[in-house]
Amino acid sequence: MATSIVSKVELDEQFDYCLKVKSLLKEKYPTRAPRAYTHTYGCQGNVAEGERIDGYLSMMGYEFVSEPSEADFILFNTCAVREHAEERVFGNIGMLKKYKETNEGLLIAVCGCMVQQEHVKARLKRSFKYVDIVFGTHAIHTFPQHVYEALTGDERVFAVPESDGVIFEGVPSKHTNDLKAFLPISYGCNNFCTYCVVPLVKGRERSRRYEDIVADAKELVAKGYKEIMLIGQNVNSYGNDFGETNLFSKLLREIDEIPGDFIIRFMTSHPKDCSFELIDTMAECKKVEHHIHLPFQSGNDRVLKEMNRHYDRERYISVAKYAKEKIPDIAITSDVIVGFPGETYEEFCDTVSLIREVEFSSLYVFMYSPRVGTKAAAMEDQVSDEEKSRRFNELLAAQEQVATERSAAMKDKTYRALVEGRNKAGRLNGRTSQNIMIEFDGDDNLIGTFQNIKVKEPLTWILKGELQ
Ligand code: SAH
Ligand code: SF4
Repeated sequence: MATSIVSKVELDEQFDYCLKVKSLLKEKYPTRAPRAYTHTYGCQGNVAEGERIDGYLSMMGYEFVSEPSEADFILFNTCAVREHAEERVFGNIGMLKKYKETNEGLLIAVCGCMVQQEHVKARLKRSFKYVDIVFGTHAIHTFPQHVYEALTGDERVFAVPESDGVIFEGVPSKHTNDLKAFLPISYGCNNFCTYCVVPLVKGRERSRRYEDIVADAKELVAKGYKEIMLIGQNVNSYGNDFGETNLFSKLLREIDEIPGDFIIRFMTSHPKDCSFELIDTMAECKKVEHHIHLPFQSGNDRVLKEMNRHYDRERYISVAKYAKEKIPDIAITSDVIVGFPGETYEEFCDTVSLIREVEFSSLYVFMYSPRVGTKAAAMEDQVSDEEKSRRFNELLAAQEQVATERSAAMKDKTYRALVEGRNKAGRLNGRTSQNIMIEFDGDDNLIGTFQNIKVKEPLTWILKGELQ
């Protein structure tokens, strides 16, 4: 499939809409700037899309506020990966109704992955009549037009086109963090894991042009960003749609060569496409940090097959083992699902034994959540909520033990960390190459620099240390 890139002409049209909206807002708010509140749920991909939406809003003249009660425009950029997340969003949309009653000119928009599902769109139409703009994952680039339509028309705006997905370049992102930037390298996903809604809502996998990514990376470094996180649902298959293999390794090496004091991270790696060459590349690059997020989902081969993951336990362990040999201080983190349909307790025990064998530094454990339109949702033998939650707790306890032991082994060792800010206790917070949080005392002028910190007190999820 040829990737469809939104043309410059189409984007210029959207920039024109930004200007039109800006002058309408000047009439509506003659004495002050209009105020926007935006909130993104879910993955880094969503965050990066939210930053472009914020970029558009800045072009329309909006200032950003941190409370929805102060805003003239409220936007929720949503996540559909699990039901729990969806219900939380519906609850939060429900709370916005009261602001409509006190602020007549308020515009409310809902976008992102939830909206791309027919049943959610219908529910928003039917039960949340005060939501003015609903736009899907394939209508982000036309967002300015939809704001214009909402400001000038009488109808609610529903823009949820069906599409395999597009790429649009050149919309300035308003980054949410001054030190760390997400840099998307691909969008969508082709893997169709049987539990996952992502391919249904984000479209087919499409890689950004290599030279566009490198140019963005250079610009981020020139602007002073200290961490560049390359993101995609499956970064390892970057460029496969151009007919290339291992292009991701080449991209890492090229970004690694950009002069400057910065670090490179990436996520997510899919075990089926995570090549040994990628591990070699990580080991050889100077700026690529020693952390890989490699979701295994289940430690049992039958369940992995049912999940359509295209690797088995042995393959996963061999990649993890190779990574540890090549990069002895590497941290491997992962996502796991407990209670996939048909998963027996014995099969779940294979997941527990895998985490002991690989020794992850941390894990995101999820209880399986049936998603409309996925194969797994139609499978028989769904595991009860009670059993899922039992397995969830058992896995967390096992991981806690692994993480405590790993942390303890870091005592008295010194790690280079990017100093990110100050925590609630008034201490500085840094992150090691392994993406582990380390806190210590120091001056504000260290924020945004790399410092060597000696671990004094290793706790399970955070290290306490001393500036060297
Ligand atoms: N592309 C990434 C993950 C994207 S979704 C990858 O393949 O690794 C993030 C995580 O959410 C997944 O790794 C999975 O563990 C979890 N997840 C996805 N769908 C889920 C579902 N239906 N129920 C529970 N967890 C789910
Ligand atoms: Fe979902 Fe699988 Fe694609 Fe990850 S690789 S986004 S889990 S379908």
